[in-house]
Amino acid sequence: MGLTVQAIVRECATRLADVDSPLLSAQLLVGEVLGLSPLALSLERDMVLDTVQAGKIHDLTERRAAGEPVAYLLGRREFYGVDFAVTPDVLIPRPETEHLVEAALAHFPVEASLRFADLGTGSGILAVTLARLYPLAVGFALDRSGPALDVARRNARAHGVDQRIAFVQGDFTESVPCHGCDLIVANPPYVTEAEYAKASREVAAYEPREALISGPDGLDHVRGLLPKARNALRQGGVLILEIGCSQAEGVKFIMSSECPGFKDFVVTKDLAGHDRVVFMRRA
Ligand code: GLN
Repeated sequence: MGLTVQAIVRECATRLADVDSPLLSAQLLVGEVLGLSPLALSLERDMVLDTVQAGKIHDLTERRAAGEPVAYLLGRREFYGVDFAVTPDVLIPRPETEHLVEAALAHFPVEASLRFADLGTGSGILAVTLARLYPLAVGFALDRSGPALDVARRNARAHGVDQRIAFVQGDFTESVPCHGCDLIVANPPYVTEAEYAKASREVAAYEPREALISGPDGLDHVRGLLPKARNALRQGGVLILEIGCSQAEGVKFIMSSECPGFKDFVVTKDLAGHDRVVFMRRA
């Protein structure tokens, strides 16, 4: 007699007792293999699994117990209300990055014919979300990583916006191949070397290091980005960046001392009350 859904969810949650949210993780992994939502799982709790299903759940549970993030196990993560494909070639979308989208919405009405760029697009969440929310927008999505761009393209196709985004492989600290942009967004690497040394195993062992780390003060990419973004923006165009919680002053200093030509610097906080987003306008 095989295990029931209820029994395997319990078994899986017990095995995951030492990782975050054991029950939720168990429900997600079991649900993934069975093609059932958490609600459907509870309705089907007496259903008996076959050995192939039980084996798949066992494998996913062991990988999760070893620290592999749920988003990589499932191959997706939600951002701004919709699912995005993720692979270990891209950073897992973080909820705080949604504040960049909110900052854009606060400055441009959704009917705007925006010309935008997303620098270091990764899985494409920002470019694809902007294209979804602004039906008349066209944009560029840049990344150094070819495999990351493949994921971003896949997400753009899945959300029906691939005709309005040009995907370009390149390093935004060297060149940004667009001009006259109304809006540039970026969630660049901004973790300091010291912070990275203390990162959880879940981050350090699985997520792409080059998407996170940015030199001793975490600002190497911002230093390279600001002059390129300034050149790519139209006068009055807007730059919105995600930053680390103690970097607002550092970014402001770089803007005013090393890269003149911006104005209207504003910092906003995330839900945890940490500085998270900076806004500036090309003078
Ligand atoms: N918020 C992310 C983290 O701390 C960092 C994201 C980034 O470097 N862009 O894991």
